Amino acid sequence: MTQEHIRLHIPGPVEVSPDTYAAMAAPMIGHRGKDFQALYAGIQPRLQELFQTRQPVFLSTSSAWGVMEGAIRNLVIKKVLCCCSGAFSDKWVDVAARCGKQAEALQFEWGEPVDPAALEARLATGEFDTVTFIHNETSTGVMNPLEEIAAAVRKFDDVLLVVDTVSSFSVVPTAFDELGLGVMLTGSQKALALPPGLALFAVSEAAYARAERVNDRGYYFDFIEFRKNQEKDMTPSTPCIATIHGLRHQLNRIFTEGVANRHARHEHLNAKVARWVESKGFEFFAPEGYRSKALTCVKNNLGIDVAALQKRLRDDHRLALDGGYGKIKGTTFRLSNMGDETDETIDNLLAALDDALGKL
Ligand SMILES: *Cc1c(COP(=O)(O)O)cnc(C)c1O
Repeated sequence: MTQEHIRLHIPGPVEVSPDTYAAMAAPMIGHRGKDFQALYAGIQPRLQELFQTRQPVFLSTSSAWGVMEGAIRNLVIKKVLCCCSGAFSDKWVDVAARCGKQAEALQFEWGEPVDPAALEARLATGEFDTVTFIHNETSTGVMNPLEEIAAAVRKFDDVLLVVDTVSSFSVVPTAFDELGLGVMLTGSQKALALPPGLALFAVSEAAYARAERVNDRGYYFDFIEFRKNQEKDMTPSTPCIATIHGLRHQLNRIFTEGVANRHARHEHLNAKVARWVESKGFEFFAPEGYRSKALTCVKNNLGIDVAALQKRLRDDHRLALDGGYGKIKGTTFRLSNMGDETDETIDNLLAALDDALGKL
């Protein structure tokens, strides 16, 4: 059965290039043999360069939430403080509570960035041993100030910072070692432009030491288990080998383009979308200075029918557009420039939007 191709411009999963699918069609290999070990070891150096770490980068066969929940289970002994400013960050409090952990929300309005001073003030109570933080809040299009947040948390020796870079990884630099992060995680289906199902993460020495003191880490996301298997260039359980073949291909793409060039391309395409937004009289949901470089969350200040716009784009142009997430559905819409997007594909999207808006 063939399905008609609707090109994705939603902020995840993003469009996967045909050459990536072709790379994923490499013959299957066993995960306890030399071929897999070579695949695993071969991609480590480039993953470490992207994470900016000397720690290994682990491959988890799960979506990002698996590792997000795993970080809670591995690290929280006292209480976790969850920086909340949108759909993904808000949900982390509930996830922590469902893991049986003491959790508190440090809540900001959707569309506002996380404030490092407010975080520092709350940590000064000494109640917390872990902080969860989303670098790029995909629901609101806000890129939070990672460096300032990391600096605030570093003032507290026994507090570990868990950073979700699901929609910022490889879009902007994220320096795991230098920032002193406890855990940094990302997922395959956002800026890496792979199919969903693979999460990648790094763990600091301090975070391993914490995990060793936690008894109920479970098995599937146990950081210590990941480290043990890493020593043999393996994963704890059977990984999604086809997606890892795709990852190897995308790493080739990234390092052929050059990491700095990749960052610059994202910035350039994002700025192009921003100029279009302003030219139409739309506003941004995120404040100036905190706008994501991975996607644009457009405020529907013109009161257009977002559902009708989506339908036009799909029916007339075979493009998928996001109509806003959660409680800001319809009052916002989002345009992704993550992954393999080019001037041509973004120009095509903006021309399609012009056409569709003209027919509403
Ligand atoms: C998409 C996204 C997630 C969720 O990832 P899953 O792969 O669906 O688990 C988490 N955090 C952010 C910031 C995201 O954009």
